[in-house]
Amino acid sequence: MLFWLRQQRPMTRFKSACFTLYRRQLAWLCLLVVGLLPRILSARTFSQQFERIKQVAPREQLYRLLYAMPKGGDIHQHFNLANLAESWFLLATDPKVTRNNVFYTRARPRDCPNLTALTPRFTTIQKSAYDALPPCQKDEYVALSALTAEERALFISGLKLDRDEEGRQEFFDAIGARIGDMGRDPNLAGAALVDNMRRFAAEGLRYMEVFVVGPRFIDIYGQPVPIERGVQILRERLVSPDAVATGLTVRFLATVVRHHPDAEIEIERAYDLVSKHRDLFVGVNLAGREEDGRGHALRFIDVFRRMRTRYSAIPLSLHAGESEAPGTQVRDTLLLGANRIGHGANLLSDTGTLLLMRGNRYLIETSLLSNQLLKYVPDIKVHPFPEFLRIGIPICLNTDDRGAWDSNMTDEFFAAVTNFNLSWEEIVTIGRNSLNHSFAEPPVRERLLKEYDAALKRFELQFIGDDWSEKLRHVSVIKSGYARRKLGITD
Ligand SMILES: [Zn+2]
Repeated sequence: MLFWLRQQRPMTRFKSACFTLYRRQLAWLCLLVVGLLPRILSARTFSQQFERIKQVAPREQLYRLLYAMPKGGDIHQHFNLANLAESWFLLATDPKVTRNNVFYTRARPRDCPNLTALTPRFTTIQKSAYDALPPCQKDEYVALSALTAEERALFISGLKLDRDEEGRQEFFDAIGARIGDMGRDPNLAGAALVDNMRRFAAEGLRYMEVFVVGPRFIDIYGQPVPIERGVQILRERLVSPDAVATGLTVRFLATVVRHHPDAEIEIERAYDLVSKHRDLFVGVNLAGREEDGRGHALRFIDVFRRMRTRYSAIPLSLHAGESEAPGTQVRDTLLLGANRIGHGANLLSDTGTLLLMRGNRYLIETSLLSNQLLKYVPDIKVHPFPEFLRIGIPICLNTDDRGAWDSNMTDEFFAAVTNFNLSWEEIVTIGRNSLNHSFAEPPVRERLLKEYDAALKRFELQFIGDDWSEKLRHVSVIKSGYARRKLGITD
């Protein structure tokens, strides 16, 4: 008997414990169901929530939401032209950044002999070039730190298309010269790149693909920095603590200006550069004004074919169809072997190529603001972007030369959402496209996609509830000049 009791007592205790635990679990489950019942009954997808927000949110709130939203990558932006004007000024007058270099701008033009009429006001040069000027021209230039408040405002404005009458001519003929030697100084250009990384990361971007010509840096004596040294400088800059802290991954495309007489030689150099630095330079790009007929696509068919006999799997993102006139530039550029098309704004005029692009793998890198401000489309409302998106051409949004537009990535999404009523699924498709079609190494691309998906989940969870507008109050937003001027986002 005693033996029996000894055997049973532990069993009874065990059964009792099991039952208690079972009851507790049930009780917890009941409490959980009761607590969540209102949420379960009113459950909505984030897609539905986004439609609701679009209907009721004032523009400022929608802007705030789109600013906070995870955005994938910006895979079409130009080194130097992507940097904000205010940042150029602050960094170029900071001795910790410029390390003894000094920058002068042509703030006070005079009628000097030998003056080339092509030098726009606020062209910027470094001290070595300033020291070599004859006295009359020297008087035209003022150190950036010595500009009057009025001149400083004009200098900053001169780096942007911030007036309606400004457009293509101002952009192509003046802004590059105004950035001038600031973009050739490796310390300053590197600091501006990291400044951009920080700003884009704050907007929820995870990746940037930046188009670099050269890199063509000069030292403080005005002597060219060898390309390999330039690459090393960029590489070191990207692993510096302030760059790493942004959490943003950056890759470069070796870029060639298409209408230059020696563009074919530059393409060969670009391939060589990518082949030597595949972990940092991930593809080749052709940029420059397409309406300048000297750089037409078919001019380069031989050189690209020759490069493919020499190098394995170097992808191409080529500007094409950045034009308001009908044309076959996109088709001709696909013949060059392009994996991605920059802009493709006139693709609708070439119906055969349009059909070829449907459901295919060639992505179009769109920049709505760039095409609007350079007047390749008369108005964003008639941009072909929604047609491309909704007939199944892979597409993503990019900032291109946002320094000149005084814009950010949120502006691109805001323009797309408000003009074309983008659904949440379309926004996510655009974000995923920007990473899926990036030229980053496959493991990096997969990591970025995972991070993007995880960030999306967190974002959806944050703003799915009825308190979304309250939560938006806590989002700090840096509004762009474009948003203030063109999108009516003022408060
Ligand atoms: Zn571009």
